[in-house]
Amino acid sequence: MHDFALHRPRSLSEATAQFASGGEAAYLAGGHTLLPAMKSRLRMPDALVDLSGLGLSGIHREGDRLWIGAMTRHADVASGATAIPALASLAAGIGDAQVRNRGTLGGSVANNDPAADYPAAVLGLDAVVETDRATHAADDFFQGMFTTALADGEIITRIGFAIPQAAAYAKFRHPASRYAIVGVFVARFAAGWRVAVTGAGPGVFRWAEAEAALAAGQGANGVTLAADDLNSDIHAGAEYRAHLAGVMLRQAVATLA
Ligand SMILES: Cc1cc2nc3c(=O)[nH]c(=O)nc-3n(C[C@H](O)[C@H](O)[C@H](O)COP(=O)(O)OP(=O)(O)OC[C@H]3O[C@@H](n4cnc5c(N)ncnc54)[C@H](O)[C@@H]3O)c2cc1C
Repeated sequence: MHDFALHRPRSLSEATAQFASGGEAAYLAGGHTLLPAMKSRLRMPDALVDLSGLGLSGIHREGDRLWIGAMTRHADVASGATAIPALASLAAGIGDAQVRNRGTLGGSVANNDPAADYPAAVLGLDAVVETDRATHAADDFFQGMFTTALADGEIITRIGFAIPQAAAYAKFRHPASRYAIVGVFVARFAAGWRVAVTGAGPGVFRWAEAEAALAAGQGANGVTLAADDLNSDIHAGAEYRAHLAGVMLRQAVATLA
């Protein structure tokens, strides 16, 4: 590990000022992505700005949205997101107990790993991502592998998930890391269906054909995903991921039923 400064701000304005105070800086949340990247020198920030003193944790319902603070740990979402059981169960399936007790919602969403679980819930539940300077709609937030609408130094403060009539998440997980080789989040709202896929492509995406089939009452059986733009790597080929997407879709829809 290289030398770096550690800042512990007590307010959002202090955090953004410290982030901009010179050199390369990074916000520190649960550290479960950032610190391994620093240990392997994939990232070498001059300063870490610890977000743990800003009061960004907690879960509460406001009308038709469930708001979860960015620093809320996966384990607390698993036990506290009772208004959306599919979201609680998704959080309970992230990594292992150590990861769930350190990793945070905001860190996962800001990082936007193409195999992460939360991006599927954010997109599937038509969430809004609130930051220190803007409110981003889920449909505009994820912009490809490890890329989001966040500007340099922008801090996610909380995420508001629309509460669906029903929702379910099914994931075929990597046996070691538990990241999604393919995960499918399905949500039914009065206004229609949303289906989000993680793990399969270079970033999370909505599956328009699945949404249309479910809206038409045709079920999930005939729905297929083209392999053309999907990931092919040491874990799974594109054709296999396309097949898994159909299986996970049917599992999620069966859970809903
Ligand atoms: C062994 C292992 C297994 C895992 N398995 C899974 C899994 O099954 N599914 C899954 O989804 N994930 C998995 N993860 C990832 C885990 O969920 C991480 O906790 C998560 O990706 C990052 O969250 P964090 O709080 O640790 O963020 P950090 O590592 O602290 O930060 C990650 C990035 O986000 C930025 N950031 C953090 N918070 C904010 C914020 N509020 N605003 C703006 N930027 C911010 C940081 O600067 C950094 O660039 C696994 C990790 C490990 C180590």
